[in-house]
Amino acid sequence: MNKFETELKNGNFIVSECIDCKQIIWPTSDFCNICHNTTKWRNTNNLGIIIEFSKKNDEFFGLIEVEQNLRVMGKIVTDKIPEINQKVILKECSFNKTPKFIFKTITN
Ligand SMILES: [Zn+2]
Repeated sequence: MNKFETELKNGNFIVSECIDCKQIIWPTSDFCNICHNTTKWRNTNNLGIIIEFSKKNDEFFGLIEVEQNLRVMGKIVTDKIPEINQKVILKECSFNKTPKFIFKTITN
């Protein structure tokens, strides 16, 4: 497992951010793919928005955008049918062969 996967397994969603141009490098890397400087690792703010979602059995899954333009697939925990552009917060993350994310909708 790489650093990203190990941290994810421990419940920390971390990203690599370029120390110079401040781009979030995704997939995570020790080097920036734009200016080739090194990156630093930091926690995400755990907030995201729903880009798209679908329902499978009684559960919702969706594409969630976090940080600037980083998109991950995850389960969406909600009381109601989610909406596109609705805000979500990361509730849980893990790693077992693939990344696992569980987001919860934030109602205003
Ligand atoms: Zn850079």
